[in-house]
Amino acid sequence: MTEIRVTPLGAGQDVGRSCILLSIGGKNVMLDCGMHMGYNDERRFPDFTYITKEGRLTQHLDCVIISHFHLDHCGALPYMSEMVGFDGPIYMTHPTKAICPILLEDYRKITVERKGETNFFTSEMIKTCMKKVIAVNLHQTMQVDDEMEIKAYYAGHVLGAAMFHIKVGQQSVVYTGDYNMTPDRHLGAAWIDKCRPDLLITESTYATTIRDSKRCRERDFLKKVHNCVEKGGKVLIPVFALGRAQELCILLETYWDRMNLKVPVYFSLGLTEKANHYYKLFITWTSQKIKKTFVQRNMFEFKHIKPFDRAYIDNPGPMVVFATPGMLHAGLSLQIFRRWAPNDKNMVIMPGYCVAGTVGHKILNGIRKLEMENKQMLDVKLAVEYMSFSAHADAKGIMQLISQCEPSNVLLVHGEAVKMEFLKTKIKQEFSIDCFMPANGETAVMETKHNIPVDISLSLLKREASKVGLLPPDAKRPRVLHGALVMKGSKLQLIDPADALKDFGLAEHQLRFTSTLSFDEEGPTTGTADKIYQLVKSQLKDFPTHYSSDGSITISDSVLVQVSGDEESKSVLVSWSYEDEDVGSYLLQLLKSELVT
Ligand SMILES: [Zn+2]
Repeated sequence: MTEIRVTPLGAGQDVGRSCILLSIGGKNVMLDCGMHMGYNDERRFPDFTYITKEGRLTQHLDCVIISHFHLDHCGALPYMSEMVGFDGPIYMTHPTKAICPILLEDYRKITVERKGETNFFTSEMIKTCMKKVIAVNLHQTMQVDDEMEIKAYYAGHVLGAAMFHIKVGQQSVVYTGDYNMTPDRHLGAAWIDKCRPDLLITESTYATTIRDSKRCRERDFLKKVHNCVEKGGKVLIPVFALGRAQELCILLETYWDRMNLKVPVYFSLGLTEKANHYYKLFITWTSQKIKKTFVQRNMFEFKHIKPFDRAYIDNPGPMVVFATPGMLHAGLSLQIFRRWAPNDKNMVIMPGYCVAGTVGHKILNGIRKLEMENKQMLDVKLAVEYMSFSAHADAKGIMQLISQCEPSNVLLVHGEAVKMEFLKTKIKQEFSIDCFMPANGETAVMETKHNIPVDISLSLLKREASKVGLLPPDAKRPRVLHGALVMKGSKLQLIDPADALKDFGLAEHQLRFTSTLSFDEEGPTTGTADKIYQLVKSQLKDFPTHYSSDGSITISDSVLVQVSGDEESKSVLVSWSYEDEDVGSYLLQLLKSELVT
């Protein structure tokens, strides 16, 4: 098989619900299994009937790989494995394996217990699902089966996020998941080695953005928060449980300390507490700076930032609150937002991307009248600010990753179509490689080159070197080297033909081509032979020609012409060796035009 096929079931020309089917070397892999935050109906999960209409998925999928714990990358996992049915291996990193079930359980609680939805996975299903998970370390090659191996690389983005290199035989694919090419306050930058995959599947959330410097963004953020609380306003910062929350807490804590501010800062309990616990547990996955600081004091125990209690929502006076979830689609952040939205003194700062359908996405698009549950209308008067702190690669970062791993093809997922088009053009121009952007349910097919490694014998190389002098090989001037290709066991070797004959005890055979021309001509055969001899002497002057007494003509020792026949019709047999193909075929054409008329 020389084809690689990719079909997104989610995140094809879209952000959210990442789920990409990959066929490589006869193996089928599912990359991520996410849910869509913008939907509450069946569209929130990928449509697995695409894989099979009935029965379990186990026999159709060799493995599942989860890039990181964000729900838009793993939120459909228990549904897929326990309700649709998959018993094969699921791969993820150790931190992802630890944090993923907590987020899944939280998501289940919100959906089932608060919203009262049925037909959803249970706590028990999350547990059984997690038993199928095999945890991987960074840079550790894992053998999925005899033919397929996978290797994880650091992706930044959130704790435990990884890119995966998937290899089957000579073919390979890199899937990035979400990644960040610049280090932040708590995580390092993504990195991959020059693995030259046939295909790089990359996210493209910020495909058209080249973000301003980080420092400017941070200063802007602090100024906005400070201005608002100075005027007595309340600032709400909706965050994902893990990731930006820690980054922004560290930033605000340092600023509050420096400016000696007394305005209370809170973070919502529960998830954030748990999150900090995991950061401590997986400290080796965080940035160098945090690792160092951590030795002196606990970076995640804050002096100014205190746990939030629901009773504080209506407290008078200014305050800053970090609350989950990040897109204002449910939970505490939405509850606070509803209370603070009607007051124009207040402010909400969205620090990351919001998917279509969420309250976050609506207010960022300028909608100031929201219809909430029970047809209640909400007037949004507070200031809405957007500061991109979310840890995705921007256009520059994506281009950087392409130069780092040098793929033969690129495929874009997890982005909006218009932005993808822009990036696609840029990639084609800069790297002269193919770029694909299939929509959900659409299949992108790419041909791959097959490289077959061959060992070369030393004597053959030496012989070649003696021909050109002892010049070192030059990649820009490839030379053709002739030899005999021999298969020993499963290995191919290129050796000196003479050695090959000796090894196998064979005599050398010669390949000869023959052709016969028949035509009518009166007179003896010697007359025709004479005519041919004169023709050869005049047309092939540079070649030694021999005319023997039996009437046969030899040219260049290997091209032979023999005339036979009677008084009326003649046959001319021309034969030549493989090496003299040029002379032989030229002579044949010459005789055809001169004799057969
Ligand atoms: Zn993510």
